[in-house]
Amino acid sequence: MAMLEIEPVLCLKDNYAYLVFDREDGICGVVDPSEPEPVKRALAARGLPLTHIFNTHHHNDHVGGNLALKEWAGARIVGPEKDAPRIPGIDIGVKEGETFKLGSHGARVLEIPAHTRQHIAFWFEKDKAVFTGDTLFAMGCGRLFEGDPPTMWSSLSKLMKLPDDTRVYCGHEYTEANGRFALSVEPGNADLNARMADVRRVRAEGKPTVPSTMGLEKKTNPFLRAASPEIRRVLGLEAANDVDVFAETRRRKDVF
Ligand code: ZN
Ligand code: FE
Repeated sequence: MAMLEIEPVLCLKDNYAYLVFDREDGICGVVDPSEPEPVKRALAARGLPLTHIFNTHHHNDHVGGNLALKEWAGARIVGPEKDAPRIPGIDIGVKEGETFKLGSHGARVLEIPAHTRQHIAFWFEKDKAVFTGDTLFAMGCGRLFEGDPPTMWSSLSKLMKLPDDTRVYCGHEYTEANGRFALSVEPGNADLNARMADVRRVRAEGKPTVPSTMGLEKKTNPFLRAASPEIRRVLGLEAANDVDVFAETRRRKDVF
């Protein structure tokens, strides 16, 4: 079995769609196409067919290209079953614990709600890659539009159980701004300072900061670091539980 190849496609201002493909299998999916044209150009440049569309959640900057791409390519749309009415053109609803077969590659479905009341990740376990939409960003997490802090903490905790070498492909290029906030709550984190130096260099070259890895996120993402003594000290929450530390971190980011 060949490795699944993954290419980011910049859409709108700072959204990433991703091509996921295996030429031997003759399959190519796109994750969270906000708009059709950049995806069509990326497919044409690589001479790939479009066979599947994967959606993590219903927001328009993740599903906006669904109907045009489906009509153009005849691709099948895979998305969260529990939010099917809000996923344009959905063909296949998937839920927690299921594995969707993309050619010879398996994508395990993880339900990770709170940014929206249903939101899924596609975890290609053997290919060591997870698509986290707007739940987990590089050094950040999504806003809580349709869920509360305990729900988001449990969603993030589910992702934290993935192996450290899992590559993390998120829905937006927010990394540098997220990192500035991360430094405000954990300025003494050496891994975080080193990562920000890398991120600033990569962004100065106009390149994407994706993917990261779960291991790096666990060391540098403040929303996964409710146990950090430094974050707890900065927030004045030394004795609080993890959910309350997470909730206060999220609240501070909202007004940062
Ligand atoms: Zn969203
Ligand atoms: Fe988004």
